[in-house]
Amino acid sequence: MSLLVVGSVALDSVQTPFGSTADALGGSAVFFAAAGALLHPVQLVGVIGSDYPEGKLQQLAKRGIDLTGLTRADGESFRWKGRYSYDLQNRETLETRLGVFADFQPTIPAAFRDAQYVFLGNIDPELQLRVLDQVRQPKLVACDTMNYWIQSKLDVVLELLRHVDVLMVNDAEARQISGDWNIYRAARWILERGPSQVVIKQGEYGAVLMSDHTLFYVPAYPLEEIFDPTGAGDAFAGGFMAHLARTADLDPLNVRRAMVYGSAMGSFAVERFGVDRFDELTIDEVTRRVREFADLVHFEVRE
Ligand code: AMP
Repeated sequence: MSLLVVGSVALDSVQTPFGSTADALGGSAVFFAAAGALLHPVQLVGVIGSDYPEGKLQQLAKRGIDLTGLTRADGESFRWKGRYSYDLQNRETLETRLGVFADFQPTIPAAFRDAQYVFLGNIDPELQLRVLDQVRQPKLVACDTMNYWIQSKLDVVLELLRHVDVLMVNDAEARQISGDWNIYRAARWILERGPSQVVIKQGEYGAVLMSDHTLFYVPAYPLEEIFDPTGAGDAFAGGFMAHLARTADLDPLNVRRAMVYGSAMGSFAVERFGVDRFDELTIDEVTRRVREFADLVHFEVRE
């Protein structure tokens, strides 16, 4: 059951109250793949410039990421610079330099076109649609988007929704797409426009899964130290999709389990800067954390 991700491959410079990074490995596809590959091999499609530290990416890729679909173009890599507030709740984008990402035309290698599980990371929705033209018969397509595209290309985002099974966005994005401040009504609005499931991520408050038949909530793992929230959403998506791909089971109970793998991977992402935590993370640690989630929410009704 092959798992494909298309998204940004970036160099991130992040400032948090606890430290900073400069030109660290990042981007939606990289966070997704770093988290997902621990559970199931990930095929990555993206573009890097001539200045990208490919050695570091290859090192990470050894953990199960197929880089056949990574193109190296002449020019600067995509760079993103952001700063977090003291409570790590708010993020300010200081700079976005598109570089080679500006002309990115995702070409899915022949060997990836039969991918069964597809994640469309946050890129131009027109490109997300073009990826879908190139994959044959995926079993499950999930996608992300962001305020920039919702504002500038809402019609294309809505067209995309007609072609995906799962929309995974944060609460602000769900509110912006639907024009409704209430996330449950926002989810319902989205469900009426194509996807059969919506995942709304709420940072330290967890994430909600909604379909016509289900409402499921997974908390965020209660961490006492958080270093860098960057990439938590993409790592969540990586855990969610990789669990579904490796189990090849879309039963609603297994989708709930996938939500817990997603939340676990999101929590690992924020424990270190960038993708550093995924360099050494083991499957045993993931399993242990997933079990802790079961304890966290377990209770018995006595009435
Ligand atoms: P998240 O924290 O999950 O929202 O994802 C953060 C990642 O998104 C960072 O690694 C950035 O490199 C990447 N990113 C930021 N802005 C964009 C953009 N306009 N398009 C694609 N990726 C972006």
